[in-house]
Amino acid sequence: MFRCIECGGEAAELAGDCRCVGCRDLQEWILPAEGANPAALRERWQARRAAPAGDDDRSGVWRFRELLPPCADVVSLSEGNTPLYDLPRMASRLGIARLLAKHQGMNPTGSFKDTGMTVAVSQARAAGFTWLACASTGNTSASMAAYAARAGLRSLVLVPRGQIACGKLAQAIDYGALTCQMDTDFDGCVRALAEVVTRVPLYLVNSVNPFRIEGQKTAAVEMIDQMGWRAPDHVVVPGGNLGNSSAIGKGLVELHARGLIDRLPKLSVVQAEGANPLARWLRGGRQGDLESVVAKTAATAIQIGNPASWKKAARVLDATGGACVEVSESEIERAKAEIGGEGIGCEPASAAALAGARKLIASGFIGREEAAVLLLTGHVLKDPEYTLQRREGELLDVAGADAIVRAMETNHGPRF
Ligand SMILES: *Cc1c(COP(=O)(O)O)cnc(C)c1O
Repeated sequence: MFRCIECGGEAAELAGDCRCVGCRDLQEWILPAEGANPAALRERWQARRAAPAGDDDRSGVWRFRELLPPCADVVSLSEGNTPLYDLPRMASRLGIARLLAKHQGMNPTGSFKDTGMTVAVSQARAAGFTWLACASTGNTSASMAAYAARAGLRSLVLVPRGQIACGKLAQAIDYGALTCQMDTDFDGCVRALAEVVTRVPLYLVNSVNPFRIEGQKTAAVEMIDQMGWRAPDHVVVPGGNLGNSSAIGKGLVELHARGLIDRLPKLSVVQAEGANPLARWLRGGRQGDLESVVAKTAATAIQIGNPASWKKAARVLDATGGACVEVSESEIERAKAEIGGEGIGCEPASAAALAGARKLIASGFIGREEAAVLLLTGHVLKDPEYTLQRREGELLDVAGADAIVRAMETNHGPRF
């Protein structure tokens, strides 16, 4: 069952635009109240990890199917089961007890979008749709295109021209999506798609689709599972359209309500200074509706000025006691280099999580004795131009062994 987040109106099925038929606001899927006891669930989820390759039970999303909308026929690319890295050097540099990174960029198409897409595309196929569609800053389209292809369905991608990292655009084409670029921004693509949806039957897989949120919430469950069911003090997530922060928050709140964790981590959202509508709305004392901004950041995955899920994200901040911070372009750049320097790497938008965590530590919001998990949202290979444009100077031209040895003697490794 779905419930509207604004008027509370309930619906058994999703409308074509995924909005409440009464007040047009977003809906969320309601997890049925009854469920197995925590110990039995943990045991069942643990056992599914050993399922044979190719079995849906092994997916890092469907392993937790007790928390998901029921689905008989799953479209999966073995998503989830992503690494949780301990970063002790970085923790001591930042001055906190423990820092971890949950790397959702290690999903099949290189971003967390896959965990939501497996649920949404499974539902679309079950409902008999032949076309899937999204407006995208890149990763949603890459993910949708892959899952559509896997399901034997067609997909339509709308992207803003020149504002998509090249790895992501190449993926959409490679996976066979009908890929259209428009001379507008992400928000303009959303508006165009809203019009197309009224003309032809399309299944919308933007994060207004509550099935996406359900799949994405499993990252929180998997993370807590990997931590032996001891919740961290903080989870820090970059925010663009604010679907993912809403999803992670929903996951944490449900785990807590079900007695699967005994305390609720604070979920904090990081926005780029040039794409900060939620931060502004909070700073401005939450007056009226969120005002959109013209978004500008090199972290293109979070370059969104009119985030669809702002109300859901605001509720998650309230429910968990989290904060919203803004970070500058140079703070993102430095954080990206630091995550690379750990041998992990991520795309620029993901690095915003580290930049934000640093600010939250400096302000004392994250305490010195606390543990924080960064959500790394996308893979380092998504946006190689970002690094090359900024750090090409680190590439050395050498003529022979003398120059190579000299370079080694004078280079002391990356410094931040
Ligand atoms: C989509 C995306 C985001 C932003 O997620 P929202 O749900 O739009 O807030 C952040 N980082 C990466 C890499 C993404 O692909």
